[in-house]
Amino acid sequence: MKRRVTQITAKSNVTSYVEINISNLKQNAIKLKEIAPAGIKTMAVVKANAYGHGAALVSHALSDSVTALGVASVEEAINIRNSGVILPILVFAPPRPGNVADYKTYNLVATVGSFDELGMMSSSMSFHLEFDTGMGRLGFDPDEWPEIHSRLQSNSLKPSGVMTHFASADAPDSTKVSDQLSRFEKLLENMGDWKKGKVIHASNSGGLLFYPEAAYSLVRFGLAVYGYLPSDTHKIDDLKPVLSWKSCVSACKPLRKGETVSYDANWTAPKDGWLVVVPVGYADGIRRGLSNKIEMSVGGNKIKQVGNVTMDYTMLFSDKPFETGEEVVILGDEAMQADEWAALLDTIPYEILCGIHPKIERRPVS
Ligand SMILES: *Cc1c(COP(=O)(O)O)cnc(C)c1O
Repeated sequence: MKRRVTQITAKSNVTSYVEINISNLKQNAIKLKEIAPAGIKTMAVVKANAYGHGAALVSHALSDSVTALGVASVEEAINIRNSGVILPILVFAPPRPGNVADYKTYNLVATVGSFDELGMMSSSMSFHLEFDTGMGRLGFDPDEWPEIHSRLQSNSLKPSGVMTHFASADAPDSTKVSDQLSRFEKLLENMGDWKKGKVIHASNSGGLLFYPEAAYSLVRFGLAVYGYLPSDTHKIDDLKPVLSWKSCVSACKPLRKGETVSYDANWTAPKDGWLVVVPVGYADGIRRGLSNKIEMSVGGNKIKQVGNVTMDYTMLFSDKPFETGEEVVILGDEAMQADEWAALLDTIPYEILCGIHPKIERRPVS
């Protein structure tokens, strides 16, 4: 295999970067739109720095592929707006007295799930009503609808949408989802004609993939647009991971049989070989629990990671030497994927992806 030496050694302060495959990202969005029932609008969820992919970068790239963006906080929304994105942005967090003015300044859509929050809205503000149908987090109780309705009328407030969020849509045939759906259906029935023209939405990635009947007028996908599935029991071949995390060899030196590597000396070389040092550690997002369990790719070769991951460095053991500066793929196509790391840590790919430190540069590639 041809040797590839990265350019990152030329910039002395850069030890790793994240590549974002823009064509995979766009194709995933198109694929998900095809999966959704005809005529359904799509929202890309770009909270937590777009699941670690770079919020402004992803928002721009998807501007022609989705109808709206969803974020966790006003700060995230402002950051995306200031980067020049004009799509509608729905903020999932409750509005607060200290930031309610920002919604108007930056043309953001609020999510309102309590009477206090409703009290902060004015007739010129755009907002959706959120109902807690069983997620057990934010939102009105569906039984509060009559009271909500009268407050809306007396204050001339006009929400543009109605939403709920599923607790267990990451697997098919969940009774929890059907329970939530029947509560949501009952609420919509009670709303009668009032709901006409409103954007109605419930589904995240799992909802879209496994509960097409819950698509309503819009679906909010996060994980799936980044190329991962919320459940490893169901594969959709056309979704492709978007992110690769790359670095380069910091040092490579001979390691003798019997020598140990890293803190706690819990790995001993079974034979003579080469120690490859990669300048990325748990401070950057390689969780220490992965120590001695993963592989990375160096110059196109899969190499075993050995010894404890340290704060700023991770070590590999190789049969052959590599040059300083040779490309290392930490996570992504040639190495392991985020769902494989997640399985080793007994967690979900979401946590791996958004755990990649935001200080690391995100670079678009097509
Ligand atoms: C995070 C989030 C989503 C997206 O969930 P995925 O499982 O990543 O598709 C959708 N809606 C809300 C309210 C969310 O908080």
